[in-house]
Amino acid sequence: TPRLRPALDGIPTYKPGKPAAAGAGAGAAAAAYKLSSNENPYPPLPGVLEAAVAAAGSFNRYPDMACAALTAEIAERLGVPPEHIATGTGSVGVAQQLLQATAGPGDEVIYAWRSFEAYPIITQISGARSVQVPLTAAERHDLVAMADAVTGATRLIFVCTPNNPTGTAVRRGELERFLDRVPRDVLVVLDEAYCQFVRENRDDAADGGIPDGLEVYRDRPNVCVLRTFSKAYGLAGLRVGFAVAHEPVAAALRKTAVPFGVSQIAQEAAIASLRSEAALLERVESLVAERTRVREGLLAQGWPVPETHANFVWLRLGERSVDFGAACEAAGVVVRPFAGDGVRASVGEREANDILLAVAEEFRKEW
Ligand code: PMP
Repeated sequence: TPRLRPALDGIPTYKPGKPAAAGAGAGAAAAAYKLSSNENPYPPLPGVLEAAVAAAGSFNRYPDMACAALTAEIAERLGVPPEHIATGTGSVGVAQQLLQATAGPGDEVIYAWRSFEAYPIITQISGARSVQVPLTAAERHDLVAMADAVTGATRLIFVCTPNNPTGTAVRRGELERFLDRVPRDVLVVLDEAYCQFVRENRDDAADGGIPDGLEVYRDRPNVCVLRTFSKAYGLAGLRVGFAVAHEPVAAALRKTAVPFGVSQIAQEAAIASLRSEAALLERVESLVAERTRVREGLLAQGWPVPETHANFVWLRLGERSVDFGAACEAAGVVVRPFAGDGVRASVGEREANDILLAVAEEFRKEW
């Protein structure tokens, strides 16, 4: 057998959200609704679909490797120089490029735990060591403890805000205090996959509100913002994400990218999405309203649901997590149980959310 890198031993495999069974009705044995991957429940907008289909007509050709048109469109939309943008195969692809650009054996990568499950995987693949800093009792990043965890070996820190799977977000004041303590040669990645769902960004909100990473990165060359078209823009299946970073980091990301990693179909659909942003953000608004309805329903049932700024809710069910997941599935929705820890349920179609609320109510009675 070929010799494989020992760093790969014991690597956790990325578990995709379980799919919903096609054609199954609610209440059937197989679940009809998928609330397990924080996807956008809305189907593609017709104009975005048309752009993708038109691009599909030339898939005998390689895509534009530089994603030049998409990069220009993003840069204009966000008000940043195009040189500061690096695209990749989903933001998880860009996160992997970030690791390849910064860390290897002997290095350390800090992130909160629990957080996005790809962080431990891509860190281990790089050969670096994961330093996991527990969330606070309120399911929030403990940015003081994360700054305390920095050593001379630290190369990269992920700050997932809003955090997957708890939905909590870091606030401006605590983030600035944290960044002031992190050495300038350590890259801090603000993973903002869910930023379009944040509603508490006013700076008169608690501790300065929830900041837009783009304001934070501007004066800090060691801060990089990670964004995706998968969630609010509904392009999860097309795999396109990007980082906004200062020139040296963005250039390193281009070097570590898989060549032609973003298909022309994905590039055109992403451009069309930016041009249809108003319609997409209207959908986001409906999802935010559903999020409020779901969370308030759960709170009324007596569940301690942390504040959520994303398109999902987190229930810390501990040892009952897997049972709750099975009960949801039997009732027609697939959620994401993390065994022994909690359950993350995406905000989806109204009917799906209603099923979740009904299962939670039953479960609460026997709690
Ligand atoms: N970051 C976070 C926090 C996520 O939750 C996800 C998706 N689950 C991603 C990044 C990756 O998304 P994508 O690769 O589809 O852009």
